[in-house]
Amino acid sequence: MEDNGIPEEQIYQMLRKYKEKDLTHRSGRILGSMCTCPHPVGIKAYMMFLESNLGDPGLFPGTKSLEEEAITMLGELMGKKEVYGHIITGGTEANLMAMRAARNISKVRDPEIIVPKSAHFSFKKAADMLKLDMKMADLDDDYRMDTSSVEDLISDNTVAIVGVAGTTELGKIDPIEELSRICLEKDIYLHVDAAFGGYSIPFLKDAGYDLPEFDFSLPGVSSITIDPHKMGLAPIPTGGILFREREYLEVMAIETPYLTEDLQSTVVGTRTGAATAATWALLKHLGREGYQEVSRKCMEITSHLAEGVEKAGFELVTRPELNIVAFRSSQIPVEEIASKLENRGWAVSLASYPQAIRIIVMPHLKREHVKAFLADLELIKED
Ligand SMILES: *Cc1c(COP(=O)(O)O)cnc(C)c1O
Repeated sequence: MEDNGIPEEQIYQMLRKYKEKDLTHRSGRILGSMCTCPHPVGIKAYMMFLESNLGDPGLFPGTKSLEEEAITMLGELMGKKEVYGHIITGGTEANLMAMRAARNISKVRDPEIIVPKSAHFSFKKAADMLKLDMKMADLDDDYRMDTSSVEDLISDNTVAIVGVAGTTELGKIDPIEELSRICLEKDIYLHVDAAFGGYSIPFLKDAGYDLPEFDFSLPGVSSITIDPHKMGLAPIPTGGILFREREYLEVMAIETPYLTEDLQSTVVGTRTGAATAATWALLKHLGREGYQEVSRKCMEITSHLAEGVEKAGFELVTRPELNIVAFRSSQIPVEEIASKLENRGWAVSLASYPQAIRIIVMPHLKREHVKAFLADLELIKED
């Protein structure tokens, strides 16, 4: 740290030097991320609430109302208007809260959870922090959670089953309807991780896409993770956790002696209200139609990309159900495809199960980017 401060303009100049090293979503080069360019309305709303702290909501009753309204809107989107939850930092924190609620409400001594093999790694963190024994259910031929494997894993110690609506690697939707039936019958908590799919499945259904039920309209669903900072176009960090009953928040509430609220259920204490303002503003501004447009466009480009990938002689791992294309080749190992694409300036990522190149067609990816990418994909065969 300097003794004498550096003038403001010089600071910005220095910062720009660092920023130049970063990739931008706008360049269309980021192909393997679930984040995207935040929407300008979300950015403006975020900046308006930079000093608001939802960890001390008595001081910020306006922001608190925004959070309640945002949660209600997200609940409506997820098939139930009266839900209880918070706008938090992302899917990881949401999944952690859900697992904590499920564990606390059960009186089980050695709690176990069942997640699909395709579950996000945040459940490993949750299991570690909460001392849960995590059982991994197999996937079926099309990489969805195999419910017979789930039934085999259920024991007296099972405190939660997790289904994913829009898996991180392949965008697959687990059979939540069947999981709901199983969980109701056995009285087990069901969490749906819709961090990625929550902001697109309902809109795509509106647009006529044939996608399965996955939300609170299924009576067995206890909680849902839905991330505004992915397909919701909100700035990072913005996540959402929704619970069917208030009780789930209550079982993990901690007394807060010096704050304006007496009890707090979130993991984080001091908590930005800016993420809430951005979520609220974008839901109001874009509405169902605006978000439908966003998802529909992504799906059109997804189909276009999937077709092009096959035409270039690569093999799709699965038909895209949401806006993710995963592919491999019988001739070139996946790592080699990835490094060749990287040499040509594309930031791709790898799916682990099965091994594949994974491209998430987020809203920053336009037709001209896909065109340039497919041209390079043809070329790497000769590299
Ligand atoms: C991205 C993702 C997460 C983790 O969310 P973060 O916001 O990165 O913490 C959890 N589950 C699924 C299905 C995801 O796609």
